[in-house]
Amino acid sequence: TIGMLALDAKGNIGGACTTSGMAFKMHGRVGDSPIIGAGLYIDNEVGGATSTGVGEEVIRNVGSFLVVELMRQGLSPEDACKEAVARIIKKKPEIAKQIQVGFLAINKKGEYGAYALQDGFSFAVCDQNKQDLIIPGKYFY
Ligand code: ASP
Repeated sequence: TIGMLALDAKGNIGGACTTSGMAFKMHGRVGDSPIIGAGLYIDNEVGGATSTGVGEEVIRNVGSFLVVELMRQGLSPEDACKEAVARIIKKKPEIAKQIQVGFLAINKKGEYGAYALQDGFSFAVCDQNKQDLIIPGKYFY
């Protein structure tokens, strides 16, 4: 999945995501990406979030919506992503070390962050100075 989040000059948040789904998926499977609240969620009062990884676990936790709601409660984007990943671990500790799920988030102040279950989830940032940064996401395992 590729998820994108943007903050424009007027402070509006936007987002989009695209995916090929999981390898060897069942015909007709719907992942998290096309489900608003799961693979992508934007609330222009708060911020936006998007996810990658095993969509079923993201859907179970309404992951991107959860990240935005945690930011509404005052968590930083990174802490909100971390808490959403922690919920996935708590719900299914037996599979948490074998799957990947990652969240990326931005808030109205332009602060951003990410967190994943496993190593290997990085994200790119492009700011108003046209600086491109590749940032390795933090992770639990
Ligand atoms: N999230 C996608 C899905 O479950 C997979 C991916 O991250 O590429 O369909």
